[in-house]
Amino acid sequence: MHLKLWHDLLQLLEGSLSREAIALWLLPVKPLLASREKLVLEVPNGLHERIVRERYLGAIGRCARALTGAAMEIDFVAAPSDPAPPPHAPPPPPARGRRAAAALNPAYTFDDFVVGSCNRAAYRAALAAADRPGKRHNPLFIHGGVGLGKTHLLQAVGARVRGRGPRSFAYAPADALMDELLEAIRGGAVASVKKRLSSVPILLVDDVHSLAGKNQIQEEFFSLFTSVLGRGGQVILSSDRPPKEIPRFQQRLVSRFESGTMIELKKPALSTRLAILGRKAKRLGLSLPRPILMLLASEIRSNIRRMEGAVNRLAAQATIGGGIPGREAVEALLRNDLLGGDAQAVTTRGIQQRVASHFQLRTGTLLGPSRSGRVVFPRHLAMYLCRRLVNSPYADIGAAFSGRDHTTVMHACAAVEELLRRNGDARELVDRLITAIRS
Ligand code: ADP
Ligand code: MG
Repeated sequence: MHLKLWHDLLQLLEGSLSREAIALWLLPVKPLLASREKLVLEVPNGLHERIVRERYLGAIGRCARALTGAAMEIDFVAAPSDPAPPPHAPPPPPARGRRAAAALNPAYTFDDFVVGSCNRAAYRAALAAADRPGKRHNPLFIHGGVGLGKTHLLQAVGARVRGRGPRSFAYAPADALMDELLEAIRGGAVASVKKRLSSVPILLVDDVHSLAGKNQIQEEFFSLFTSVLGRGGQVILSSDRPPKEIPRFQQRLVSRFESGTMIELKKPALSTRLAILGRKAKRLGLSLPRPILMLLASEIRSNIRRMEGAVNRLAAQATIGGGIPGREAVEALLRNDLLGGDAQAVTTRGIQQRVASHFQLRTGTLLGPSRSGRVVFPRHLAMYLCRRLVNSPYADIGAAFSGRDHTTVMHACAAVEELLRRNGDARELVDRLITAIRS
């Protein structure tokens, strides 16, 4: 029960926390016990407990309530021995801001990356950049939808070169880098931060689309980026879309990104999905019969993270129930699960209806021509959710909103992303809507 609850919680938390936050702070937590009112979690050490308490307790509590329907007390106990942190453990974060150099997820290696026609070009280019930095594919720009392996590939480069020296690379999600640069600007230390970051042979910046609209940061980023390239260093970037589709992005950045190698990660074909599912299951010690793999591979098509989520669930069920779940259990999982049956379960139409009803509008009004603030914000939010949950191209989303233009959708998504960055209540609202849409 506690294992399943924790797995469910992690799934739900994926809607509101970054992959990195979950990997760094929540995956190391072990559920020990759960009753109707209490969940006991084992944490590796006191520091870990403090960070989980300070940053994630609220979200864990909210998700626990969403899952069980009742308020739950959450208790922590330290693991029996309080081991010294491993050599590559992230340093404790400073009180303000984050350090840009983030820790790597040990599961994200080239060996663990399943290669198919959807991702072969990106895999090869990343490997070549790791082995001969700065020689070809520089900068290397990898783009593609959510859950298709961008972070995995960037971190695989870091993992591969880590042994070459203490500062053989720097990996950072763009928003963490942005926080660090902003903090440095405020503290008058931007030059030294840029100097430190530009001295690495390989700079890996994940999710650069989150720099959209951040003019001052784009300036700093441009100069950091050119100084790494100028020293013969390798730059690898990822984004959820090609450079020229990133809204409010400086043209010179677009041109520099486009001057290197740009590669798209596509959705995996059936055979690749089967291979990925098999690999993930094997990692968890779960041997799934082929018909079950086929069922999962045919239902979950466009997001590898969801495949992984499904396999994690099945592994948890196998641990609890003591056996490999049968077809009915898997069908139920796909039907009821927060994972949804992928794009089929979460549709543009479903999102429009849910958002309209949340704001007490008729769907026709949401889609119609009204420019009143009461309607425009919900409309933007619905577009954003379509992009995030259905992952359709902007043009398709525009078409589904009474034939609006793709640039309208891009601006709407950027505006909502900006709001979410600034406003915790908006994030909470979006989380709740996502939970409702997926359930
Ligand atoms: P993105 O950054 O593009 O949103 P991630 O890199 O976080 O996606 O990938 C989502 C999950 O899917 C990760 O757990 C990752 O290990 C897994 N994954 C993605 N692509 C592959 C692949 N080709 N082989 C194995 N696992 C993959
Ligand atoms: Mg990512």
